[in-house]
Amino acid sequence: MTPRLILHGGRIRTMAPGVDGTVPAPTTAIAIAGDRITAIGEDRAILATRGPRTRAIDLRGRTVTPGFTDAHCHPPSGGLRRIQCDLDRAFTAEDNLAAIAAYAAAHPDREWIVGDGWSMETFPGGIPRREPLDAIVADRPVFLTNRDGHGAWVNSRALELAGITADTPDPLNGRIERDEDGTPVGMLQEQAMELVTRLIPPYDQATLEQAILDAQTELHSLGIVGWQDAMVGPAPAAAYRAVAERGALTARVVLALLSDDLDEFGGLDGFVAVRDAVAATARAAGPGALGAGRLTAGSVKFFVDGVLESRTGAMLTPYLDADGRPTGGTGISNREPAELNRLSIELDARGIQLHYHAIGDRAVREALDAIEAARRVNGPRDGRPHIAHIQVIHPDDLPRFRELDAVANAQPLWAVHEPQMDELTIPILGPERTTWQYPFGSLLRAGARMAFGSDWTVSTADPFPQIEVAVRRVWPEHRDAEPFLPSERLTLDEALRAATVGSAYVNRQDDAGWLGVGRLADLAVLDHDIDAPDAPPIGDTKVVATIVGGELVYEAPALEG
Ligand SMILES: [Zn+2]
Repeated sequence: MTPRLILHGGRIRTMAPGVDGTVPAPTTAIAIAGDRITAIGEDRAILATRGPRTRAIDLRGRTVTPGFTDAHCHPPSGGLRRIQCDLDRAFTAEDNLAAIAAYAAAHPDREWIVGDGWSMETFPGGIPRREPLDAIVADRPVFLTNRDGHGAWVNSRALELAGITADTPDPLNGRIERDEDGTPVGMLQEQAMELVTRLIPPYDQATLEQAILDAQTELHSLGIVGWQDAMVGPAPAAAYRAVAERGALTARVVLALLSDDLDEFGGLDGFVAVRDAVAATARAAGPGALGAGRLTAGSVKFFVDGVLESRTGAMLTPYLDADGRPTGGTGISNREPAELNRLSIELDARGIQLHYHAIGDRAVREALDAIEAARRVNGPRDGRPHIAHIQVIHPDDLPRFRELDAVANAQPLWAVHEPQMDELTIPILGPERTTWQYPFGSLLRAGARMAFGSDWTVSTADPFPQIEVAVRRVWPEHRDAEPFLPSERLTLDEALRAATVGSAYVNRQDDAGWLGVGRLADLAVLDHDIDAPDAPPIGDTKVVATIVGGELVYEAPALEG
């Protein structure tokens, strides 16, 4: 078949099994026809197959990699940032208040001021207060989730509308932060947020659809060809389906339906019904076809616990207080382990992938136990369960990832010394458990499969800063900082493999993830040769083109400029 597209004069990093680094010269070109790779080889042979309508792009020495799959992210939130109060770039309390005031002034018609992106280390103890918010917005309710989405800063009007007073008990799996006398300070943790969120008018479907499309544009510009949406309720599920069915979904997307919305989905069989309906539409469109053929919904997500900084992460032994002494608290398991096991067994039996949020060492163990329970009852099957975040792993549990074939779904960007880690996390963990954090190297040495997810919008979706942290354990912004647990570093190949092959495996994209003849033409063109001796640090890499199923879905002017 005459190729439609030829990329030549580059360096092809196929990431094929057993191939480390660049395929030995002269592998410089790749040919694409339809949605597949038809040849990989040297320029002269591949350019000889060019036809009159073939587009040939001279890579001028740049690297081509498989397209990236983000195994855990929240694209609708990313898209909604454009219409909400975005605090992502506010780094001090004053910055936050100025951004909120500007947003409120610019949107006098909004009944609610809703936003996210503030950082816990900006406020003493990670807890902002309602008074400064009241001083800017007194008449309208304000609800602002923090960067990790596990807590929210609210003003007095929001507390009043929700009826939250000194007498309101903490809800199950949540905490209302209070002064000594019980008065709410204006910070709600975990399920306490629900007391307010249930009052916020939901976004209509058209807004959600636009948010998904905006997010897709942004993710494609970063070399991302597909993702697993880690938190899909009924409304975003409907929006994704509408976007897919009208052919606008160019990415390959897996929806992880939210287990907390079990009732809204109509019980366990409701999850199956959504999965099967999406699959039937995909079959009708042609698997892999633009739009409907690229959406699946065969995963269910569990929040096993919260996060460490608010001491809602589930730990095997107690958190420490300011003097380094054990408190009574070991965090929150959002479900009884027996219940988590039961639901996991039932879903696995129905062929649904299990996707867990687990931060603390007890949460990781409970997720592994649930996977083990499903395996014991249902037998081993190709379920590809995965555990995201894996912040603290008890050393005894490291080998269980391989034994249970549970994928370690890592968010490498978090594995650094930064203010939240140094000022909030390390003091409450103490020295030993501090060294059990983000043990990516140990996981690979224990034979685990690894995937990468950004957890965008909690942190950037750009794969290259994440890869640099996985390799160096410092942020690209602070390259001279002390590396965080350097023995847990990965090699560049290991990191690239997790972000491509590993994440594609989680999403069951068995024809993608590495480049080979006959496989899907999902790939990214980088802005330079990342293996050159004078290459800039990997985190500075930019993508100049992204191809999904043989189609350019992103093209920077620099590609041929
Ligand atoms: Zn997440």
